[in-house]
Amino acid sequence: MNGSNADNWQAANDPNLKSWVESANVPECDFPIQNLPFGIFSDRSNAAPRVGVAIGDSILDLAVLAKEGLLAQNAALFESISLNAFIATGRAQWRGLRARLSALLEANNAELRDNAAIRKRALIAKTDARLHLPVEIPGYTDFYSSKEHAINVGSMFRDPKNALLPNWLEIPIGYNGRASSIVVSGTPVTRPNGQIKLPDNERPIFGASRKLDIELEMGFIIGAPSSLGDALACERAEQHIFGMVLLNDWSARDIQQWEYVPLGPFNSKGFATTISPWIVTLDALEPFRCEQPEQNPQPLSYLRHAGRHAFDIHLEVGLRGDGESEAQTISRTNFRHMYWTMAQQLAHHTCGGCNVRVGDLMGSGTISGPTPDSCGSLLESTWNGQRPLQLQSGQTRSFIEDGDELILRGWCQGDGYRVGFGSCAGKVLPARATV
Ligand code: MN
Repeated sequence: MNGSNADNWQAANDPNLKSWVESANVPECDFPIQNLPFGIFSDRSNAAPRVGVAIGDSILDLAVLAKEGLLAQNAALFESISLNAFIATGRAQWRGLRARLSALLEANNAELRDNAAIRKRALIAKTDARLHLPVEIPGYTDFYSSKEHAINVGSMFRDPKNALLPNWLEIPIGYNGRASSIVVSGTPVTRPNGQIKLPDNERPIFGASRKLDIELEMGFIIGAPSSLGDALACERAEQHIFGMVLLNDWSARDIQQWEYVPLGPFNSKGFATTISPWIVTLDALEPFRCEQPEQNPQPLSYLRHAGRHAFDIHLEVGLRGDGESEAQTISRTNFRHMYWTMAQQLAHHTCGGCNVRVGDLMGSGTISGPTPDSCGSLLESTWNGQRPLQLQSGQTRSFIEDGDELILRGWCQGDGYRVGFGSCAGKVLPARATV
């Protein structure tokens, strides 16, 4: 069953498909039958975290379906606190399962639709569920691949005339980040303490960051490992990607500015990174593939790939001040602006023999567009605090204040439907007392 399903995986992307889960057919819904993203959830009736798939306003419990013999996989694969074991079964299995779920949820398929007993146990309302970190993440790498972002930051801190350092157009710049502090959307983020060098002081102080910021990013999850010593070819690198999430690389700009020379960010980034709970598979994103920006100079040969390797993903940042009912959109941009592609990032990451593992997370780097209202960080949109944002509440923001909730959203727009990522949110709590 899996073989034939896997071969026909693109059928699950048919824009005309509808589901008998009515909420999935609403055009603004992030989780139509064409999406079917994977996550880890628990609910009131069962506190054990397990694998689920989002459909409309519900979650499909894959362990229940497997136990009832409706899936080819063993239920134990889905009775797990992470997706790693399932992801490790490989791309033919991901594709076969997605095709099977698409068939089961299709409007005219009576198999699950008309079986009230199984449906009652297998379909859980999202409002009754708690979402967990979807993968165990062995390693986290963050790139710096938006040309607009790199030019903005280079202009601010170095020289507007030479904003890009000479290596930027040759290397997908990145650093090895911290995996232990990656949290799922909804987890509060405590303002970090750290060393800050104030302009008028000779020595740094130790205290709470005064320039707490976001970085709007996408992340991709490694689905197929590579061996130590092996370089992944750029042309085939996407085959190692399971799917994508929204990612907020929380950043303390004042700590960063003091610590980052000579070895890059450390405490300014290591305190928290938030990801969205649903992993949208690369297969579901296939219809939204598009042309990447032209690269000049042409990259070295190990970074070349023919064809289209960018993805058209609309992105938004919302800010909700403490006590406010509505979030205000403060930025709109698109993932397609990224100069370096995911395939190039992965080819470069492994070019010297560094291996990647199932569940590894790669951040894209802050995604900024070409206009001032399309910045992926407050650092850029307020120009390091010099031009505060005017909020509808009458307040202003140079950087994030305690009690602010920051909400990232992302979706691909199809004809009459969207393949969405849901949201990636975090509320900022005051810093811990210092000694
Ligand atoms: Mn970043």
